Amino acid sequence: MIAILRAGVPQDQVDNLIHWLESQGLKIHLSTGDYYTVLGLVGDTSKIDMELLAGLDIVQDVKRVSEPYKRSSRVFQPQDTCIEVGGAKIGGGNLCLIAGPCSVETHEQIISVAKAVKAAGAHVLRGGAFKPRTSPYDFQGLGKLGLEMLSEAKKETGLPIITEVMNLNQLPLFDDVDIIQIGARNMQNFDLLKEVGKLNKPILLKRGLCGTIKELLMSAEYIMSEGNEQVILCERGIRTYETYTRNTLDLSAVPTLKNLSHLPVVVDPSHATGQAKLVKPMSLAAAAAGADGIMIEVHNDPKNAWCDGAQSLTPEQFADVAARVRRLVEALAE
Ligand code: PEP
Ligand code: MN
Repeated sequence: MIAILRAGVPQDQVDNLIHWLESQGLKIHLSTGDYYTVLGLVGDTSKIDMELLAGLDIVQDVKRVSEPYKRSSRVFQPQDTCIEVGGAKIGGGNLCLIAGPCSVETHEQIISVAKAVKAAGAHVLRGGAFKPRTSPYDFQGLGKLGLEMLSEAKKETGLPIITEVMNLNQLPLFDDVDIIQIGARNMQNFDLLKEVGKLNKPILLKRGLCGTIKELLMSAEYIMSEGNEQVILCERGIRTYETYTRNTLDLSAVPTLKNLSHLPVVVDPSHATGQAKLVKPMSLAAAAAGADGIMIEVHNDPKNAWCDGAQSLTPEQFADVAARVRRLVEALAE
């Protein structure tokens, strides 16, 4: 249930109302915009007398929200969430470019890729230190050492960094990480979601291989219900019967998520397609569909990458994609 308050209601009256609702056993999510204040009532609202609430002087309207996701819902917060991190803006009409290798391999590799993607206009550097691999015999990532190399690349270039956490025990190592990624395989690792929900830093939540849009939003809700509202949703392709591409990029998820939720939506065309040649057209399509960001795997030597070389762009290819995406965004804004 949501209660929309009248414009200009004094704060003490808002506080009193919240206090009363909380005493009824509800959790209250407060969203304050320039022209309105919305209270999200979470919990068993069956005890609440809707007419009584709607009849209060300070209340303009009361609505039942049938969706099970509340905090991430556009009904609760009509305006876009814009997440600002290390000079980058994600959401609210800013197109953020996230680029870097699948995995951090060596000091030289991450520094050279970081410099190259920065020069090409990337706003955030990506790189995996803990890698979720299908085979236990494949490279599993450099772990703590990889995180240290990422931190050096951040120092060297000034780019904020994003990297994936795979389990709760790794979290203490992530202090210097600017955006924590929850990978597709962990979209429904609810304990992990609750734990990153207690942090005060942005979380990029990838859609699971078989995750529905509703399940993705419910996972975002797990993070937000613990207090961390800085969630970025990521469409990275889903499993379908099609095997020509690594996954099937569900681009309709972008406008759908943006209709349902105020959270920023990023598209990862690299994992969605698995093929470097498809990354450019799908990046442009993602930007045209209204994505708030694009995350692209870039490697200095894709043929010899330790992970996901086939889908990685060279720095030159990335520079071309970035320039074209910028031109498209400018054209769409005209
Ligand atoms: C990644 O971004 O490195 C990754 C493993 O992606 P996903 O979880 O989408 O497979
Ligand atoms: Mn990868």
